[in-house]
Amino acid sequence: MLQFYDIHYKYPNGQHVLNGLSLHVPLGKRCALIGHNGCGKTTLFLHANGLLQPNRGEVHWKGQKIDYKRQTLQNLRKEIGVVFQNPEHQLVAPTVMEELAFGLYNLRLEKDVIHKRLEKTIQDFALHPWLDKPVHHLSLGQKKWLSLASVMIMEPSLLILDEPTAYLDCLQIEQFLEKLNDIHQKGVTILLATHDLDFVLEWADVVFVMHSGQIVMEGEPAKVFAESEKLNQFQMGIPLLAKVWKSLFPVDGCVPCDVRQFIERLNVLN
Ligand code: ADP
Repeated sequence: MLQFYDIHYKYPNGQHVLNGLSLHVPLGKRCALIGHNGCGKTTLFLHANGLLQPNRGEVHWKGQKIDYKRQTLQNLRKEIGVVFQNPEHQLVAPTVMEELAFGLYNLRLEKDVIHKRLEKTIQDFALHPWLDKPVHHLSLGQKKWLSLASVMIMEPSLLILDEPTAYLDCLQIEQFLEKLNDIHQKGVTILLATHDLDFVLEWADVVFVMHSGQIVMEGEPAKVFAESEKLNQFQMGIPLLAKVWKSLFPVDGCVPCDVRQFIERLNVLN
């Protein structure tokens, strides 16, 4: 669906961040990108909607090379939605309602289409009580929720999220993740960066491990997290459940994905 081929990128200050990175996001899957702080996850995401362009390498969307012309990028941003880690970097309009409508007006959609999308999104994200509020009166968690709503109103087929649970409390995390599952079930492919390895093990279909500006491991989380020594070399730990399983069965090449599976497999082995 979205493919990065041999991407190299250095910031104007000369720092090389992406060093021949290749990554293919498979259609319809829940994908997680993990890697230590500063390894370049955000920089990679900025290449997905043209906010950055590679110095070398190619980004393909649905089999076509992205050419970074204005028109192509505008079309691309309809299809690839990016939710930044910090909602302050995303939200631009004075009120919640204007924020929701902002992207739709930019696309110059018909009035009745705009109206329908607004109605649906307000309903889906339960935004009625906030509509006339100034955006700067919202809490950080509420701003994050609004960021997601204002990206989803564009009806993207790929949703990219940079550390979606940052700034959220326990209840908001639950609500946010429930909404992501809902979005995925409606057919949207998801790629997110996170430090929450327990969540990745339970939630993701595919995990990509990033280190030194490259993807160094990828695959089903249950298999990737079984390789604790290799992950260690890339400054990555493993989820708690995987730690317990590895201490019980050190040579098993596939850790259980959740507590239910953990108990089932334990029962079988005993
Ligand atoms: P991650 O998202 O994995 O934490 P980032 O992509 O944010 O990593 O950053 C990767 C590296 O690029 C870091 O060393 C960071 O300091 C550097 N970096 C990020 N943005 C800029 C910028 N605008 N100019 C120069 N260096 C940057």
